[in-house]
Amino acid sequence: MKEYYEKRRSKKNMRDISSTSPYVIDDERLKDIDRFVEENRDAIVRDIARLVSIPSIEGEPEPGAPFGKAPRQALQCGMDIANELGLATVNCEDKIAYAWLGDADIDRCIATITHLDVVPVGDDWPADPFVMREEDGYLLGRGVMDDKGPSVLCLYALKYLKDTKLPLRYPVRALLGSNEETNMHDLDHYLDTHTPPLFCFSPDADFPLINGEKGIYHALLVSQHLTGNILDLTGGLAANAIPAKASALVRAASLESCDGVTAVQKEPGLWQLSAAGISGHASMPEGTVNAIGLLVDYILKNNIPSEKELPYFRFLAKLHAASDGSGLGIDSCDGRFAPLTAVGGKITTENGIFTQTIDVRYGTDTSGEKLTARLREEAAGCAEVVVANDSAPFYMPLDNPAIAACLESYRQVTGEHDAQAMTIGGGTYSRHFPNAAAFGPEHPERSYPAFCGPIHGVNEAARLSDFLEALKIYIQAHIRLQALEF
Ligand SMILES: [Zn+2]
Repeated sequence: MKEYYEKRRSKKNMRDISSTSPYVIDDERLKDIDRFVEENRDAIVRDIARLVSIPSIEGEPEPGAPFGKAPRQALQCGMDIANELGLATVNCEDKIAYAWLGDADIDRCIATITHLDVVPVGDDWPADPFVMREEDGYLLGRGVMDDKGPSVLCLYALKYLKDTKLPLRYPVRALLGSNEETNMHDLDHYLDTHTPPLFCFSPDADFPLINGEKGIYHALLVSQHLTGNILDLTGGLAANAIPAKASALVRAASLESCDGVTAVQKEPGLWQLSAAGISGHASMPEGTVNAIGLLVDYILKNNIPSEKELPYFRFLAKLHAASDGSGLGIDSCDGRFAPLTAVGGKITTENGIFTQTIDVRYGTDTSGEKLTARLREEAAGCAEVVVANDSAPFYMPLDNPAIAACLESYRQVTGEHDAQAMTIGGGTYSRHFPNAAAFGPEHPERSYPAFCGPIHGVNEAARLSDFLEALKIYIQAHIRLQALEF
């Protein structure tokens, strides 16, 4: 297959690379893209609303619906939209689907990847989150920004390539996932059964472009069986979030409340402690206050631990001392990524055993193995370090031509000629591909009115004009990527 592909490619190269390259973005091309986007504006809004109307939160697996009925319906809706645009589709065992152009049999394509599943909504929405609203040029509803709107943009980008009959040196696929928000088993399935794309961009993050994602390391710091003065210590909801609340039940003669920690005597010698911090995502701990950390400090300051408990609580204190990992001696900065972060997001107590999570986001100058070794040194004699998962950093050099092609498209459409790629602490679909980048469509620097909410939040919103601009960027990127040698 590969040999066939190489031959075929070189023949095509001779035909397409000429002085009148179809991949030049000249005034005529720009006008044509503008016209296409304007003409399809209403249909784009309609199609986003169709997807938003499906509450595609992960559910119980069913035959033909491995992530639940609603994500499967959303996948169907995505394929229906693609078919209506004249694009052929392939359903990969109801987990992920794609619309395609060019040679269907060649996996080594240029791809985009977005997802059609969404996170749950909670009770705070002022209107039905699954009925898309349009207000003052903004679209509101669960999934408009993450990631149903961008999914529709990727399909319309393919429609442009099809309508204008752009010669395709590489086949193009718009992958539509349905399990991104939980386990990414959609993408696992695709990569288990297909060759990875030559290059893939994922509109599921921020503009201008994300060329690197820190390593993500999760471990459990499990104490020995301890019977002493701390009967319970509980806090946090997830390993990857800084908790705003934590509580403890401790034995002490007399305690006083202090800033951030409230002490209430339940019975003589038994105290309930509650801490209030400031929550946030583990990858961005700046400005947060870890409620577990507040309690650990309080417990140590008030000499609550028994002799047996003391080493484990001192170890916890090192973790919570600073979110840059310096307390544990794992702090580092490689110059490509922001400094390492280390966060203890969740602690539980069961049968006298404390289990504290640790979430570390790290750059290219350390590794999961090094982190484990260092943590085991610090934990020696007082805790077991159980690695839950470790994903190495993902980094694409800025001189990679595909990265440059995407950035150039962003700069040309927005006029932001100094726009630069950036690295983040979070993880997106990109890190699962050998050659990929997260590419828009959010603009964190552009402010939104108060009635608009963030992704995963109440009143999740997207500015329609930003979406139309993003579509122009994605079309340009596709054209430029076709001109590259892979
Ligand atoms: Zn997303």
